[in-house]
Amino acid sequence: MRRIVLQTGAAVKGKADATRVILTSYMSGDTQKTFYLETFGCQMNVHDSEKVIGTLVQQGYRQVETVEQADLILYNTCSIRDKAEQKVFHRLADFKKLQAQGKRFGVLGCVAQQEGDKVFERAPHVSLVCGSASYRNLPEMLVQIEAGKRATGLDDRQTDECFETEFTARTNPYRGYITIIEGCDKFCAYCVVPFTRGKERSRTSESVLAEARQLVDLGYSEIQLLGQNVNSYKDPAGKKSFAELLAAVGEVPGMRRVRFTTSHPRDFGRDIVEAIDATPTLCDHVHLPVQSGSNHVLDAMQRLYTREQYLERIGWMKAATREISITTDVIVGFPGETEADFEQTLNLLEEVGYDGVFTFKYSPRPNTPALELEDAISDQEKARRLEVLMSRQREIQINQNKKHIGKTSEVMVEGHNQARGQWIGRTSQNKTLNFTAPDDATPKVGTYADVTILSTFPNSLLGQMVI
Ligand code: SF4
Repeated sequence: MRRIVLQTGAAVKGKADATRVILTSYMSGDTQKTFYLETFGCQMNVHDSEKVIGTLVQQGYRQVETVEQADLILYNTCSIRDKAEQKVFHRLADFKKLQAQGKRFGVLGCVAQQEGDKVFERAPHVSLVCGSASYRNLPEMLVQIEAGKRATGLDDRQTDECFETEFTARTNPYRGYITIIEGCDKFCAYCVVPFTRGKERSRTSESVLAEARQLVDLGYSEIQLLGQNVNSYKDPAGKKSFAELLAAVGEVPGMRRVRFTTSHPRDFGRDIVEAIDATPTLCDHVHLPVQSGSNHVLDAMQRLYTREQYLERIGWMKAATREISITTDVIVGFPGETEADFEQTLNLLEEVGYDGVFTFKYSPRPNTPALELEDAISDQEKARRLEVLMSRQREIQINQNKKHIGKTSEVMVEGHNQARGQWIGRTSQNKTLNFTAPDDATPKVGTYADVTILSTFPNSLLGQMVI
């Protein structure tokens, strides 16, 4: 049985249990309306789903673990790549026959916002289509679909609404997510997000800090601040810059770790690095997507910075007192990317010495400016470039990770691998550190342990817990 912790607005310091509503009726309430929710895509979607679950539970629904058990089947979708979008329509087709049993289907998130009513044409058994900026209207939409009607919730790009709710079903008991900014105004040539998630709109620093304090009171020690471009944050009350907000969240009494993702290079200021240096609770990891090492491609992608400007930001991080680990995203095969452009990306990987790279093959997406460009690079060539890039990065990561041998790092214990007899931990630098513990010590998941690193692999470290 999976427990859902429903965070309510009535947190009282030192009374964490009193503020957690544990939904133990989960498997028993036979007469209760039930829902199944599957989430695709990024961390923003995962956290949106936590808020959607909280909203549904408030409306008297109970979450179940299989489509077959559910009255309402929901997909929180991602349209960043064609594959992710197709997956949703395949799922809908696979379960269409269940409509005869009175089950209802809903499509949420980016595909919903992008396709709108066209979802009903492609999958007529769907009765709810709702983009992320309309989740606040879910209670009314649920009433409509329960009455056998269809409901559509779509916002135009100019919406000022953020989906703030005090009912969030936090499914990770140790790491709490807080969305501080929604939407995107950058319009990279390949990306659907500005069309599916609306314009950039930030929450006040006061409301972010109140949520952070509330999470600490509930027992969370690690907070992750989220935004499509988290560092484009602009306090509507004008009180705090992003770097000041980071530091203030890090200084909340009881806070142990603060992460933030994803940063946009154009808005990445030196003050963020200074905040990391000055605030020990801010994790020493920055994810800064570069996408390409070639100015020609960056310009075509409309990324709003040059290779030189990007490297300047990397220089700030490398000059920091703390050793900041740096990860990135790279797209290969963007229209017009020549072999020389690609070489520049490989060369940038070496120059930065990334601790991790998420790699993608370019795929054309609806409504994006890049659709106008000829996608002349074959899929085979894109796959080759991806392979070359991943193998180059593997070598870089082997060397990066080796530097940690002999050092001791604090990890948050995230789980136990029974088969290997190892514990799984995560360092402040966001590295997976598997470790063994002495016989008389049993690390508790969600707590912290010091681990000495004994050996390393391309994607993880191995160590021994220090008592
Ligand atoms: S910054 Fe670019 S890639 Fe990121 S969400 Fe906005 S448009 Fe998409």
